[in-house]
Amino acid sequence: MLASKTYLDYAATTPVDGRVLEKMLPYFSQIFGNSSSVHAFGQQAEAALESAREQVAQSLNCQPSEIVFTSCGSESDNLALRGAALARRLQCGANRILISPVEHHAVSLTAQQLAAYYDFKLEYIPVDPTGMIQLDQLIPALTPDTAVVSVIYANNEIGTLNPIAEIGECCRAQGIPLHSDAVQAAAYLPVDTSDLNVDLLSIGAHKFYGPKGVGALYVRKGTSLIPSQTGGGQENGLRAGTHNIPYIVGMAEALRLAQAERISRTENLLPLRNRLIGRILEEIPDCLLTGHPLQRLPNHASFVFKGVDGNALLMMLDMAGFACSSGSACKTGSPEPSEVLLALGLSREWAMGSLRITLGTGTTPAEIDLFLDRLPQIITEARKMGS
Ligand SMILES: *Cc1c(COP(=O)(O)O)cnc(C)c1O
Repeated sequence: MLASKTYLDYAATTPVDGRVLEKMLPYFSQIFGNSSSVHAFGQQAEAALESAREQVAQSLNCQPSEIVFTSCGSESDNLALRGAALARRLQCGANRILISPVEHHAVSLTAQQLAAYYDFKLEYIPVDPTGMIQLDQLIPALTPDTAVVSVIYANNEIGTLNPIAEIGECCRAQGIPLHSDAVQAAAYLPVDTSDLNVDLLSIGAHKFYGPKGVGALYVRKGTSLIPSQTGGGQENGLRAGTHNIPYIVGMAEALRLAQAERISRTENLLPLRNRLIGRILEEIPDCLLTGHPLQRLPNHASFVFKGVDGNALLMMLDMAGFACSSGSACKTGSPEPSEVLLALGLSREWAMGSLRITLGTGTTPAEIDLFLDRLPQIITEARKMGS
């Protein structure tokens, strides 16, 4: 960790848990075989792969055959949307994609590309001002020509949780597959695919103290997918490419730990997160909490400040020793307000001044107090710069 720097951006990425790293290490140079090889080296790698698959399946309460390993959360989202949309159109001619307006770019830009180049119709399910899907708005939108529905479980920018189990029930009643991006959710919420009524669910290891560059897609038995990456036939033909065994082993362990420890991690972070939200709303004028006040990730606090340039604010915070974000890491440097914040009904002026503070296992009460002591002055300075 950088000396005297405070990391408050755990929604962007997390450090690898030491216990996870330990499990990974033998698979770089000692047990290095290609899991597709016939010989003993290959078999050894394959055993590790299949044991990791069983562990991930246990965490997601599904069958090992329903897990597809990918290279990241983005790839899982891509495979789910592209794969299901194309397969459903082949199967039954359904030509419409339905997503929420608060999806991660890995979902929203994929859906937009499917509309632009693959002749799908893209429609958005309205959300309320907290960024949550309302079932009475969803149900009439579930028309027979809908190929796939995608709704984010826990929002990366605003923390809001969606009622995925209820949404899944509605989709299932119409026979439409539901995908959920659970990349943020997997760190703190139950990801029981049976309870959630989902057909497709994306996770990415580096959001829950696993390594970057590995993810998984849950594909419910009977859900058809057209693969995006073709080649060697790995992952049941759904995702070609030699398996990255150390990363897959690391993800399985990180997910196991996240699920085993999620209640204690939540109990540690919730009071700190609540202190952060309470004091910022109390002490800083012209400030709004974005996302749902209660139905939100336990480590997540997000705000907009009127008359503040969010990017300038991030730089000032960085100079003061605090690593935060304005929402999605992918948007850093862009002068446009976040589409997610605009979808909540915020004006451009408010949406430009966004700040996301996300806590993690390394966060201490002293760090939060220090941050709270410094933030009001930094906001005042940022407002002077903007005017
Ligand atoms: C980080 C994130 C992704 C992308 O995952 P990567 O593993 O970084 O590709 C997708 N969706 C959400 C909600 C995320 O937070």
